Amino acid sequence: MRNPKEKYLKAADYLIAARRNPTAFGGKRNFMIRGLFLGKFQPFHIGHLEVAKVILGEVDEIVLAIGSAQFSYTPENPFTAGERIEIARRSLLDGGVDLRHCLIVPVPDVGTHSIWVSYVKTFCPKFDVVYSNNNLVRTLFIEAGYQVKPSPLFNREKYSSAEIRRRMREKKDWRSLVSQSAAAYLEEIDSESRLSEIGAPTQEEHTP
Ligand code: NAD
Repeated sequence: MRNPKEKYLKAADYLIAARRNPTAFGGKRNFMIRGLFLGKFQPFHIGHLEVAKVILGEVDEIVLAIGSAQFSYTPENPFTAGERIEIARRSLLDGGVDLRHCLIVPVPDVGTHSIWVSYVKTFCPKFDVVYSNNNLVRTLFIEAGYQVKPSPLFNREKYSSAEIRRRMREKKDWRSLVSQSAAAYLEEIDSESRLSEIGAPTQEEHTP
């Protein structure tokens, strides 16, 4: 039996193809597509920036949802939602992205996974396609009837938020993993001191 999730992947591809080549799909292009890119972005790095650019090549507008927005000053979630918005915004500008096509929205976690998608919807403007590689995120949106696409990975070994946090704690080079203005901002807020004072994550620290 075919995987029932396939139909949502195909629906997303259809929508994107129609937007790219309207004549092949009946000639009308009176719709706009928004893509949701969701993550903790602790912090937003060059891999995230490259994904955002790819998404903006497929859709008209991107909704960048900053998940776990209520967490900050912990080893795995050191930056506040406001700081993460600042970092993402500066990175997108450095990457030449037109911010008129980007909406950045903080989304707090909720204790029950089954209601989380509705919760995300109340915080975000309407979106059509979800981009994520996170299995739980993908499952929850697919089950809610959303069209979900995997986002391309850019040098995952190198561009990783956990790796950046580790290097900040150990005062090793992390600047090359984020955009120039993001690095300047992270210096401004003295992220190295914050990360080393907070310390390394323990097994107990867990965010959904
Ligand atoms: P993340 O910041 O780790 O990653 C965001 C996205 O970027 C992921 O799709 C990841 O695959 C991608 N990425 C990372 N490095 C990359 C690279 N080098 N190249 C390309 N792509 C790269 O965030 P996440 O863990 O995916 O965030 C999920 C959010 O959803 C969390 O905030 C989580 O708490 C939230 N969530 C909440 C609930 C709930 O509240 N019940 C349920 C599910 C998920």
